[in-house]
Amino acid sequence: MRPRAPAAGPLRSWELVEGWGMAVAAPARVLRPRGVDEIRAAFAQARRDGVPLGLRGGGNSYGDAALNSRGHVLDISRMDRVLRWDPATGLAELEPGVTVRQLWQRSLPDGWWPRVVSGTMFPTMAGALAMNVHGKNNFAAGTFGEACVEFDLVLPSGEVRTASRERDPDLFHAAIGGLGLLGCFSRVVLHTHRVHSGDLLVKALRGRDLREVMQLMEQRRATSDYLVGWLDGFPRGEAAGRGLVHAARYLRPGEDADPRRTLAVGYQELPPYVLGFPKAEVWRVLRRLNNDAGMRAVNAAKWLAGRVEAAQNPYRQPLAAFSFLLDYVPNWKYAYGTEPGRHGLIQFQSFVPHAAAHDTFLELLARCRGERLVPYLLVLKRHRPDPFWLTHAVDGWSLAMDFKLTPDNRARLFAHARAMAELVLAAGGRFYGAKDLVLGAGALARFIPTAELQRFLDLKRRLDPEGLLQTDLSRRLLAGLLPGAPGA
Ligand SMILES: Cc1cc2nc3c(=O)[nH]c(=O)nc-3n(C[C@H](O)[C@H](O)[C@H](O)COP(=O)(O)OP(=O)(O)OC[C@H]3O[C@@H](n4cnc5c(N)ncnc54)[C@H](O)[C@@H]3O)c2cc1C
Repeated sequence: MRPRAPAAGPLRSWELVEGWGMAVAAPARVLRPRGVDEIRAAFAQARRDGVPLGLRGGGNSYGDAALNSRGHVLDISRMDRVLRWDPATGLAELEPGVTVRQLWQRSLPDGWWPRVVSGTMFPTMAGALAMNVHGKNNFAAGTFGEACVEFDLVLPSGEVRTASRERDPDLFHAAIGGLGLLGCFSRVVLHTHRVHSGDLLVKALRGRDLREVMQLMEQRRATSDYLVGWLDGFPRGEAAGRGLVHAARYLRPGEDADPRRTLAVGYQELPPYVLGFPKAEVWRVLRRLNNDAGMRAVNAAKWLAGRVEAAQNPYRQPLAAFSFLLDYVPNWKYAYGTEPGRHGLIQFQSFVPHAAAHDTFLELLARCRGERLVPYLLVLKRHRPDPFWLTHAVDGWSLAMDFKLTPDNRARLFAHARAMAELVLAAGGRFYGAKDLVLGAGALARFIPTAELQRFLDLKRRLDPEGLLQTDLSRRLLAGLLPGAPGA
């Protein structure tokens, strides 16, 4: 379809739609259906207005994955009912706008925890499936899609298709991780994981450089359910890539003397104060430190405090506190600025096969210091491959780097990130649509095998011949390859 300027709609339905990192924002008419018929009506509305439609869940993708600056946005967050919850099997049937938070709050009191959660609890089921999100347990439990039993997808034709591994496996493996381009999820069925306590047993470890951090994680892989590394991006030389590792495992039956207490939602709620400040105000404090000198000091302090933590015996920590550390500080992103489109952060998360990961990440760190564009937060995870067609996963590692964006550094930061992307692609690495803002046309073809990419594009052409479903991300990555995309 050839996008035209959208017809004027009621003023209140036009909103400034942001990427979570605030680096990009675009006005769009936002449609919020409450059921399948209203999803179909939204498709019809976009057709009438001659514009493409971008799907959006909770808006937690850092970049432009849930933005559509050339048309309307369909936001499914109002479809948020738990349709069925079975405390005997841990099977959940959910509307697409149910958040990870709603899911664990429903399942945990019955002794079940979502198999895979992202670092924040606000993504929706649809957003988590469309991006096939991973958690700190990716090496052991796989991705969000691997926990999915079946889903309903409303196709651009209006037909509702049910897909599972047995029934329509192509659609199942293409739509999970399919960037919201094949249809709109309207129902999701998921397995959850049986737990015998609301706590995890956590051990902190300290690595003097990147190699030691990675070795510590490898050594703990077989005995941990969760593994996450934090790196200090500032030191150079022998200390480059120094950091802390947190290795955690579920408690076994009988290890928690009072599981009813720890499984309660109230026990899991994150505390109202952080370091003595009301948590809603903490971003204002962080804002004062949000510069190179301040963040160098914060990272160094965390590294030093890690010495005490690593000397301790394993300790118990609530599942929510371990899983959603970043949610401790509401709106922490405002520490990076509060003017969408000008100030904010971009995250550069690259996925690199095991053999090349250490040297590639070390080189990325060196380049950041060389360019004086040092990421303020760095998170390292261990991954395993999965069967979804557009997967970002590798048998290897990911390093997520948060960079501060300002009007002054914007051009330089994007150029730096693109140069880093070249290095990662040359090492056989992959990228993740939920975090990307820098890759250009043709990049997908450099890391998704040709057969998978062609299969996906063929399916897209069959299910959406007019190119109704598009986002800014899809136009950026698939320019020239899809109907309706520029250059097609
Ligand atoms: C602080 C923070 C920490 C994070 N940590 C992690 C992490 O540890 N691991 C990880 O994997 N990710 C992580 N993320 C990224 C986040 O999990 C993903 O971006 C996720 O997709 C967000 O879900 P959402 O509901 O907000 O979807 P959105 O960001 O709104 O949309 C994501 C995608 O889903 C598509 N979509 C939305 N609704 C539908 C629908 N009904 N049908 C089909 N497609 C649809 C959109 O078009 C878009 O392509 C993190 C994000 C933040 C902000």
